[in-house]
Amino acid sequence: MSFQAPKGTFDWMPPRSEWALIVRDALSAPARRAGYEYIETPAFEDTGLFSRGVGESTDIVSKEMYTFQSRGGQSLTLRPEGTASVVRAVIEHGLYGGALPIKLWYSGSYFRYEKAQAGRYRHFSQVGAEALGAEDPALDAELIVLAADGYASLGLKNVRLLLNSLGCKECRPAYRAALQDFLRGLDLDDATRQRIEINPLRVLDDKRPEVQAQLVNAPLVTDHLCGACKAYHEEVRGLLTSAGLTYTDDPKLVRGLDYYTRTTFEFLHDGLGAQSAVGGGGRYDGLSEMIGGPPLPSVGWALGVDRTVLAMEAEGLLAERARHIDVFAIPLGEEAKRRIFPLVGKLRRAGVSVDMAFGGRGVKGAMKAADRSGARYALILGERDLEAEAVQLKDLASGEQTAVPLAEIVATLKEKLTT
Ligand code: ATP
Ligand code: MG
Repeated sequence: MSFQAPKGTFDWMPPRSEWALIVRDALSAPARRAGYEYIETPAFEDTGLFSRGVGESTDIVSKEMYTFQSRGGQSLTLRPEGTASVVRAVIEHGLYGGALPIKLWYSGSYFRYEKAQAGRYRHFSQVGAEALGAEDPALDAELIVLAADGYASLGLKNVRLLLNSLGCKECRPAYRAALQDFLRGLDLDDATRQRIEINPLRVLDDKRPEVQAQLVNAPLVTDHLCGACKAYHEEVRGLLTSAGLTYTDDPKLVRGLDYYTRTTFEFLHDGLGAQSAVGGGGRYDGLSEMIGGPPLPSVGWALGVDRTVLAMEAEGLLAERARHIDVFAIPLGEEAKRRIFPLVGKLRRAGVSVDMAFGGRGVKGAMKAADRSGARYALILGERDLEAEAVQLKDLASGEQTAVPLAEIVATLKEKLTT
């Protein structure tokens, strides 16, 4: 009997796994530098949090949730996204009573029962950031800039930004009605007709070309925004431009979750095949009240770690091995091993990353392991070196080898590795 990772899941294996860590760090770093603090919530929640918070009519709630009954008889669901949990925690801990906005970031595993394909998994990883309790176009713009900075810091060149506003509870109802009128006149299947009645905006997100072809003349939300929403959106656009960001207005961008109001945005990459969204987010002014909290106008995003790695791969950014061991230590013989072992520890404590040959497979095997490790230097300790209280330092790229006194090797390596 042998086992495989479940369908729609995969293992991050070295050396590629290093990129998952690098991406997670890079995508969260700009938010951390902007005052966002770390939050960690459970991987499962009361099912009701998602059915109310994400919305019954969404794909996520209607067909993608991993829901199970606990032994105590409670209905629980593996989190399909992060925002509802963060808002739940903010309400539960009364954070909204303190300084606003509350700025939080997080990272972890999310679960959706999706049709598994490249870039679309049942278990995937996101970095998220949320700013809660303030209605300020500069906050929407800040978050968008932070996400763009994260992608840029990874060297990604082809990430595009789509921007839209979905209006608010003042102007959305009239737009919704106008859209419903239009959609009811189209040639659509029964499931889509039902969607017109429950959540007509989602029909705009239909990926089928035969549906998209009929939507060409659909009424656009941007033509129905109230004065306040229009002014808010113009301010966000102006701030993005002032920060040097380019974006495309996409009046059909609606996003998959029910709770969005006003600003919505998506980051796309065209090198991913069937899907192109590497991240997305928006403003969700009504979510807190929907799950029993106080009014808490908020904005946030979630960026896909897995798809960002795929985007980097598509741009040829993973050609080099992600992380190198700096030094590979090779003792020749038992006495040398006893001497080199504490030296390796000393180097590591001094901040040098060092591996050493294990398993006694001889010099040839050890040199091979040194090459495979990607190290810049091999540190070779033989019997004659022991007598001379020295060690051979070999530059693995040039092959050049020099003897360095054991007492000086930590300082020598530290200096060589900083240049
Ligand atoms: P899509 O339109 O591709 O289904 P989504 O709108 O469902 O995406 P969000 O809920 O906004 O995605 O999640 C934010 C990001 O998380 C996405 O842009 C994507 O990068 C990533 N993501 C979402 N679902 C998956 C998945 N099943 N597998 C891998 N990454 C995902
Ligand atoms: Mg989806």
